[in-house]
Amino acid sequence: MKDQNIEFSESKFEKCKFRGQNALFYYGKLVYEPSHCPTCDSVKPDYNIVKNGTKISTITLPQISAMPTYLKIQKQRFYCKECQSYLTTQTPIVGENCFISKRLKNLIVKRSN
Ligand SMILES: [Zn+2]
Repeated sequence: MKDQNIEFSESKFEKCKFRGQNALFYYGKLVYEPSHCPTCDSVKPDYNIVKNGTKISTITLPQISAMPTYLKIQKQRFYCKECQSYLTTQTPIVGENCFISKRLKNLIVKRSN
């Protein structure tokens, strides 16, 4: 899995109450530019595919210092004018063995020290 499409907001990190207990929140942005529409194969250079707001997805991460930890990812939504469908991005899965997870762990360790 590649993480080149995810930009972490290193300055944004917060600790707040979530479901009655302290939790850590990190923020990132998923950068995604579709080259074509998967529904009708319309290509983007024809200006048929336009940006259509953003959506926030929350990913649960392994606990840090016994605190529930979450990553909030902002995803760009696109709309295809040709077939009038919405293009959504898959939420990346943050697994123990992925590069993204290691990178984030490093960031978290850096923050908590
Ligand atoms: Zn389309």
